Amino acid sequence: MNQSAKTANLHSALLLPPSEGLPALRLGFEDGPLERDFRRYHQGVFLLRMRWALLVAVALFLLFVVLDAISLPALVRNQILALRLGLMIPVLFLAWLATYQAWLHKHLQWIGAIAALICGLGVVGIIWVARVHAFPLPYEGIILATFFFYFLTGLRFLPAVLCGWTTFVAYVGMELHTGLAGNVLLYNAFFLGTANLIGTAGSYFLESAMRQNFLSQKQLQDMAEKDFLTGLLNRRAFSARADCTWRQALREKHALGVVMMDVDFFKRYNDHYGHAEGDETLKKVAQVMGRHARRPLDIVARYGGEEFVGLWYNLSEAHMQTILESLRTDIAALQIPHATSDVAPHVSVSIGLAYLQPQAHHTLDDALRLADVALYLAKEQGRNRVVLKTPEAS
Ligand code: GH3
Ligand code: MG
Ligand code: MG
Repeated sequence: MNQSAKTANLHSALLLPPSEGLPALRLGFEDGPLERDFRRYHQGVFLLRMRWALLVAVALFLLFVVLDAISLPALVRNQILALRLGLMIPVLFLAWLATYQAWLHKHLQWIGAIAALICGLGVVGIIWVARVHAFPLPYEGIILATFFFYFLTGLRFLPAVLCGWTTFVAYVGMELHTGLAGNVLLYNAFFLGTANLIGTAGSYFLESAMRQNFLSQKQLQDMAEKDFLTGLLNRRAFSARADCTWRQALREKHALGVVMMDVDFFKRYNDHYGHAEGDETLKKVAQVMGRHARRPLDIVARYGGEEFVGLWYNLSEAHMQTILESLRTDIAALQIPHATSDVAPHVSVSIGLAYLQPQAHHTLDDALRLADVALYLAKEQGRNRVVLKTPEAS
């Protein structure tokens, strides 16, 4: 897939349409990998903000507690303080604690939304208590809460909208129930409705801009990490990831299969079929290689030219050989004609496998050199085969 096709795919997966008009946010709960990545990205960006917003909300509610204690008549005060101290502050505090629990991070949007909604309904409850006791408490606190949902909490569009409008409906319902004068209710509902409309539009544009940012960042990362022709990782990205995997294997005392793969007589292939056909063949070969490295810590990358490199984590030597043998036969099974090859009538690969358990005094480069020796042997022994080297045998 070329770069612009990839970009179009990224766009169509998140934003519809790609470039004209307002991009529609994906509001459903489809579990595409891109949507999952976006949520992780969003959470990374907003975790700190949510943490601070919750803390600020707790602090503000405590200030309101002081204000209530000073200015409210006893009967109203006790019920309102019970709501603030018994419900809203503990809920906000628990949500704040949840931001420190990594295992809860993937649910943080809904935890934050529930906390925000309970606070919104709590504010409705406070106004209700005042109405019941005919105390003229200003209702504007609910507008503050509404802006808080949309712009401070780090909630995504959907949870923020649900919180904002549910609170709106609860407020209007409560005022209808307590029998607030029609014209006052109309004004109040109009102000609160407008606050919600502003919040809805604002949080829509905010999330839309975030999605655009996320896509651009992903595109840049793709361009920096991926080989343009085959879509596999490039050599630089391989080195970075393989270094991490190497250190993990060293820590956990797990074995690694470090692999060099090379297309046989590829210069002749190019000379015979042309460079463009050569490119197509490299893509098909790369696709097969990618299919054999699906686990999160397995890596296949284009090392340069018609050479590929791979890393498989924590497999037995026999399993490693089975995978590489099946990779080799799958490439042969593509049956891409190669009239000028000395080893087969079709395109084939030679594979060198270094199987080892990383040691503190060895580096990934040592393992790659060993894999290269194995590849050299594979070529020397007639190509189109897998040759294994272990450090002990070298
Ligand atoms: P051997 O069997 O010993 O590996 O011989 P070989 O011809 O495959 O290896 P050699 O290193 O001599 O040649 C590699 C060829 O790969 C040379 C170059 O034309 C071709 N090549 C490298 N990169 C690309 C590419 O991106 N596209 C195409 N079409 N060919 C490439
Ligand atoms: Mg070659
Ligand atoms: Mg080569």
